[in-house]
Amino acid sequence: MSTYDSSIRIDSGRLWRSLGELGEVGAYFDADADLRGVRRLALTDADLAGRELVVGWMRAAGLTVTTDRIGNVYGRRAGVDDTSAPVLIGSHIDTVATAGRFDGCLGVLGGLEVVRTLNDHGVSTTRPIELAIFTEEEGVRFGTDMLGSAVAAGRIELDRARERSDPDGVTVGAELDRHGLVGEVAVPIRPPFAYLECHIEQGPILAAAGTRIGVVRGVQAITWLELQISGRAAHAGTTPQRLRRNAGLAAALITVRLNEMVESGAYGQMLATVGRQVNYPNLINIVPERTLITVDLRNHDGAAMRRAEDDLTAYIAEVEERTGVTVAARTTARTPPVVFPQGMRDLVEKHAANLGMSSDQVTSGAGHDAGEIAALCPAGMIFVPGLYDGISHNPREYSTPEACADGVNVLLHAVTELACTAR
Ligand SMILES: [Zn+2]
Repeated sequence: MSTYDSSIRIDSGRLWRSLGELGEVGAYFDADADLRGVRRLALTDADLAGRELVVGWMRAAGLTVTTDRIGNVYGRRAGVDDTSAPVLIGSHIDTVATAGRFDGCLGVLGGLEVVRTLNDHGVSTTRPIELAIFTEEEGVRFGTDMLGSAVAAGRIELDRARERSDPDGVTVGAELDRHGLVGEVAVPIRPPFAYLECHIEQGPILAAAGTRIGVVRGVQAITWLELQISGRAAHAGTTPQRLRRNAGLAAALITVRLNEMVESGAYGQMLATVGRQVNYPNLINIVPERTLITVDLRNHDGAAMRRAEDDLTAYIAEVEERTGVTVAARTTARTPPVVFPQGMRDLVEKHAANLGMSSDQVTSGAGHDAGEIAALCPAGMIFVPGLYDGISHNPREYSTPEACADGVNVLLHAVTELACTAR
């Protein structure tokens, strides 16, 4: 075993081949995109096949593989001081139903490539390095994203997680049992020394600026609301305006107000989306009796998010008063913003600069496992740009071999520095 050498680089061809091979597991032909896509929903047979492929590669790279109670996989490369807390790296390999090959897989296979590279060069580290595959990050099958990492970090209790079911009524627990994925590692897991994740940006900013590396500041806050608006059905031709209690009108007023709140700039960098709207009875000549809308709020700033939620609640009361409807509001998800420690951001920025790569600070608009593990230890993320405005959750998702190699080279050097830190 030799000591660390700053001239080491990953094998970008090997990384690319691994991404391609994993991308064949659960592949399907997407007629809309006229391309092959990937469909590996969490804890399905396809997901299991993907896990088996990657776990085989982990073992071949000399890693000791364990699994925790929620099916998160950890591949361990021993350290010289093997009792010290490990540096954890990784991401997820489950996908949405219409996915590309990169979302999550770059973090896992990039982590594997880091281990393979350290092996090739005989590098030993003080601390162990562990490579994680987290269960059900996407949340498309069981309705809550970052499920595995949230259980590992203690935000979601194991029993609650196991009870969650998919649209066919199949539970997380039943699928974990069926696949033999309930492992011996207790949750929440013991805090690692640090966590780093390489991920595609899934947005247009880096590519537009020609920047090679995104140093991720943090993950923005997310609040999901479901508003059930109840009015009164009435004939469209015979009911005078003053006698109407129009649920659809109330939904429209709330939607417009949200847009005004965003455009006012009074709530920082807020985004608001009414993505679902269902009228009842949904007929041309009947005033809507009931309307269901969903509200997705995003904000980098937790205080601004709370102010927006409060002001929306006050406005909803105004709408009730004005239109005679009643609104039942339910919060279906709420995660606070996560800010990664300055030290982790500096580390990523420094290694990008050492490798001659341009970098910029960016905030993640999407949720990530790193946002959960940040509750346990200093966490950070490395973003790489994608083509086609960073389109993701789509077969057109594409980051070049060079972009992938850039992110994983930064990961290699940042992880090696962390793993050689004694304290
Ligand atoms: Zn992802």
